[in-house]
Amino acid sequence: MIVAVPKEQSKNETRVAATPGTVKELIKYGAKVLVESGAGEASFISDKEYEKAGSTIITDSKELLSKGDVIIKVLAPTLDQIVHLQPKSVLISFCQTSRELNTVKALREQSVTGFSMHLIPRTTLAQKMDALSSQANIAGYKAVLMAANKLGVYMPLLMTAAGTIRPAKILVLGAGVAGLQAIATAKRLGAQVEAFDVRPAVKEQVESLGAKFIEVSSDTSEGEGEGGYAKETSEEYKKLQQKLIHSHIIKADAVITTALIPGRSAPVLIPSSMVEEMKPGSVIIDLAAENGGNCELTKVDETISLNGIEIDGTSNIPGTMPVHASELYSKNVAALLAYMTKDGELNLDLEDEIISGSMYTHLGEITNDSTKEALGQ
Ligand code: NAD
Repeated sequence: MIVAVPKEQSKNETRVAATPGTVKELIKYGAKVLVESGAGEASFISDKEYEKAGSTIITDSKELLSKGDVIIKVLAPTLDQIVHLQPKSVLISFCQTSRELNTVKALREQSVTGFSMHLIPRTTLAQKMDALSSQANIAGYKAVLMAANKLGVYMPLLMTAAGTIRPAKILVLGAGVAGLQAIATAKRLGAQVEAFDVRPAVKEQVESLGAKFIEVSSDTSEGEGEGGYAKETSEEYKKLQQKLIHSHIIKADAVITTALIPGRSAPVLIPSSMVEEMKPGSVIIDLAAENGGNCELTKVDETISLNGIEIDGTSNIPGTMPVHASELYSKNVAALLAYMTKDGELNLDLEDEIISGSMYTHLGEITNDSTKEALGQ
């Protein structure tokens, strides 16, 4: 089995899908690993280090793509790359399959079996393959540092000879993996942290990190959907939620938003009218920017200012910490690949929950239901 590791094409992508550490692991499972020259450069990994780990460096990207039985990437390949993939080869990368429809169609045409790291089931068995969590953790941590960097105030309480400095007030909207890490990081910096989520079940987790959970005082269980995920709430709930967020946001120095509902555009929690009432000098770091943003004004990969309030829509925040982002992502990918390999060969058990759950194209067909739905099938 030949595993190919192409260099990422997007200028915004610094991560790589294999490190020298995971190359050694893949070789142990019986694979031969080919790495495109420069693939690790933006994560500070040289070709020499990959060679030392046992892989072969290939300079011609088309040759690399056409040789792989398995291609591992961070972002889904471009249409120009897909035409060079071998029919029946396996691709593992991130792919929002209900949104990246041209990619899905091209993979189907090419008869490539696609696995998306976005689709890995959030089960205990699949935890080590859960790249959404490993990357969201980084995003939550870094978002707080980005906010601190932009703020004109200290994060912690300080008692100085010149007077007492009050701690910064941080509001976190959405307390999933990214939100909980943002809370923990802001607490470590000494800020006063409040958090809101539609799922009342997270109250205990928020409080165990030392933050205050703010909640809508209605039937608060309505945001809890299947498998512990969030679901769409009623209009009545949304009105109460807006009122609640408004009363806290006007006092906040920084707001970190992370709210997502699987398979949908990000819910708008901060309309422009609410931004207008925020304190000048305050900031919003919108981690949902890639999916439309939790703030109405967010523009993906732009920072905009309104009356002295900054709204940061940086999409690839894990990519700003490429060393650990690549280390963790490549381990997630290697774990998935090990799971689908037996005696050095691919062994795809289509009845398996992780394999069938993360697969979206196979033998010229689209296999994922929500992707089919998005294509109107
Ligand atoms: P996510 O990225 O899909 O969403 C982030 C958060 O936004 C969630 O907590 C969600 O409830 C919240 N949210 C949605 N709409 C909102 C709104 N209108 N207002 C405020 N908040 C809103 O979530 P995630 O971080 O991927 O985690 C989702 C769930 O999966 C959690 O229950 C998490 O504990 C669970 N999980 C389980 C495993 C595992 O068992 N292996 C691994 C990771 C996550």
